Amino acid sequence: MHSSIEWIDNNQPRFIEISDKIWKFAELGLFEYKSSDLLIDILEQEGFTIERSVASMPTAFIATFGTKKPVIALLAEYDALPGLSQDKIPQKHPIEKDMPGHGCGHNLFGVACLSAVLAIKEKIINKELAGTVKFYGCPAEENANGKGWMVKDGLFEDVDISLTWHPGDVNTVVSFNFQAIIDVLFKFRGQTAHAAADPFNGRSALDAVELMNVGCNYLREHIISDARLHYVITKGGKAPNIVPEEAEVWYFVRAPKFDQVNDLYRRVLNIANGAALMTETSFETIILGGASNMLPNETLEDLLHKKMIEINIPEYTEEEINFANEIRETFPENYFDNSLTVYPQEIRELSEQFREKPICDIVYPIFGRGITLGGSTDVGDVTWVTPTAQFVTTCSTFGTPGHSWQMVANCGMSIGHKGMVYAAKVLASATEELMKNSELVRKVKQEFKERIGKTPYESLIPEGSSPPIEHFRQIYDTM
Ligand SMILES: [Zn+2]
Repeated sequence: MHSSIEWIDNNQPRFIEISDKIWKFAELGLFEYKSSDLLIDILEQEGFTIERSVASMPTAFIATFGTKKPVIALLAEYDALPGLSQDKIPQKHPIEKDMPGHGCGHNLFGVACLSAVLAIKEKIINKELAGTVKFYGCPAEENANGKGWMVKDGLFEDVDISLTWHPGDVNTVVSFNFQAIIDVLFKFRGQTAHAAADPFNGRSALDAVELMNVGCNYLREHIISDARLHYVITKGGKAPNIVPEEAEVWYFVRAPKFDQVNDLYRRVLNIANGAALMTETSFETIILGGASNMLPNETLEDLLHKKMIEINIPEYTEEEINFANEIRETFPENYFDNSLTVYPQEIRELSEQFREKPICDIVYPIFGRGITLGGSTDVGDVTWVTPTAQFVTTCSTFGTPGHSWQMVANCGMSIGHKGMVYAAKVLASATEELMKNSELVRKVKQEFKERIGKTPYESLIPEGSSPPIEHFRQIYDTM
């Protein structure tokens, strides 16, 4: 009888090959057809029941094995990022210029979950474990907060506990909070005219966009300091002598809690209304996604931390260390101190060893409780409907920025593969413990109940909206 860790070790080459295939596919969010088909085909052949195209997204799916309780869900991602094509070498070298690349390591992300659910399946078949394992194929983390739509559709109702992970540059349980976000497009419409011959007949949609941005920049002074507002103008007219009839601005509105983000969004909408009034234009909003902040579950975080320590951390060859050192040479001079600024003092001290060593081979203590990071994640919504915890493993050179060509290079070679295999073992081993220990499951659920009792959840995606597939099709077609 093998442990699930042994099973994952024995099957390593198969999963590395799958992650390399997804790395090469490098498909953008909502359009991960080849990547999701590859994962679905494998899971189907392995006897999982597949629900396809869930939550109105063709590349979202759920694969289930087992019939008993508890039901453990593993959340998997596989989308890439635009413009980050990069070869598996430590110098900047796109495979195909301007094409997508796996700058967030999601080629490893889904496949670690795949190895874990297959390892658990073996144990269910051999009657060593009783429970149900569900693989959630979650598309579009990067552009449309895919999981938010899946939560909105009630797809987690039968799940007892969710676990997930993310590729990173260290080994740690993710115990910090992420910001809640509303991701929204403002489309202004005015009246076109010749900008010199009859400007008095024109009503500029671009003026409205500019005035809205000015208003929001003034608003920044009067919002809580942890909130974030940022925008890009995605459409601003075609020529100076034509009064723009249409203009668009794309906003991310963020705050540490979802009720705060709702209030901030209300104020941004007031400004948009003001801009429309001033310019005699009109506007509509298109919600592209929304993600909540995190509801922590410390019982689950402790379980993941225990597993990370118990399971052997990867060791690195001289070749990998040389690769990492070469990657480091491409970082800006002060990257080391800059990359540690968000960490507390004890963690900065612990990280000093990585000034010399280029790859993190320790597990950090749990340190993020009470800290809110600047970014957002769609795992946030899942944490409010089922107890959830996540961790990060070393899949790249220490200090590698997210969404960079360096991340793409790392995640396509053995440093990334090793982090993926380690993550698969942690996921499988934690799932195994939850299936064996009903008292632990009860404790996890009790903590969830107590926390949710204090703050009922509300999705940031308004009723009646649907995933912005057409919107992104248009954007990506022009890229
Ligand atoms: Zn990511």
